[in-house]
Amino acid sequence: CGTSSLIPMTPKKPQHWLQVVGHAGSFYVGDYGTLLKRFCKREQQCYVRLMKDILRPFVPAYHGVVQRDKQDYNMMDNLLTHFNTPAIMDCKMGSRTYLEEELHLARERPQPRNDMFEKMVAVDPEAPTVQERAQQAVLKTRYMQWRETLSSTTTLGFRIEGFRKANDECHTNFKRTKSREQVGEVLDNFVESSTHIVWSYLRQLKQLRQVLEASDFFRTHEVVGSSLLFVHDWTGRTGVWMIDFGKTVALPSHLTLDHRTPWVEGNREDGYLWGLDNLIDILANMLPL
Ligand code: ATP
Ligand code: MG
Ligand code: MG
Repeated sequence: CGTSSLIPMTPKKPQHWLQVVGHAGSFYVGDYGTLLKRFCKREQQCYVRLMKDILRPFVPAYHGVVQRDKQDYNMMDNLLTHFNTPAIMDCKMGSRTYLEEELHLARERPQPRNDMFEKMVAVDPEAPTVQERAQQAVLKTRYMQWRETLSSTTTLGFRIEGFRKANDECHTNFKRTKSREQVGEVLDNFVESSTHIVWSYLRQLKQLRQVLEASDFFRTHEVVGSSLLFVHDWTGRTGVWMIDFGKTVALPSHLTLDHRTPWVEGNREDGYLWGLDNLIDILANMLPL
């Protein structure tokens, strides 16, 4: 794409890249072990700040904006580069996956939506209220909040979006995986019951937690819809990174978050650390006593 001269990096051998979830068509594999993701201003701002924060080792290295076919992309490290036929899992962190501002926007024109009512009934015929049933419609805000209660997002502060095993087996149907037990089973399937891999992920997650608790970036941002990407391979190598900052926004200067206090509208809390605590707990319970 004619941009590789901009990157002061040692060439690495070309690597495959596999996507677990997210919008197909938003990504290109770049040169030198990089990945191009369709440009998003908010995400760019986050990466620029993260490169100067103590969280830097826990996010893909960011290399700026590049163009391809007249489209802008954020260029970052491909996290799969140093793995050998890896297994990959995407966990979406936090107790909600929409921003407070999305709630405000949805509320500006409160239109009852029949399409959302239909989607709701398709999943759970009991979900709509008497009034919603009479109208055959639900408000978008109501739909957004209901959807989060299906998975473990509301109850555990994270949800598994999907994983892909080394043998290419791909699982993404976890929209209703909710209890600790269900989540534990999925994790066990992902690591193929390897206690070594669980132990190794646990160590890295505990390190990440310590750094998050001390990070200026983290304290001053509402982190929504962001994922932890888990990667391991048969050599026993593991890695965990934070990705996807398209819905991570800087807070007004007087406000900071602890990411554990329950969310009430207006406090901006996202439940990220609470979710990480739960995830660590569930993984720890998978190890023999
Ligand atoms: P959505 O907003 O729907 O969650 P998105 O389009 O913002 O998706 P991401 O969540 O950033 O996309 O990434 C989607 C998938 O692409 C991830 O689950 C992961 O499998 C892969 N991926 C993203 N970034 C990287 C990276 N730096 N290295 C390797 N794989 C990546
Ligand atoms: Mg994502
Ligand atoms: Mg995203």
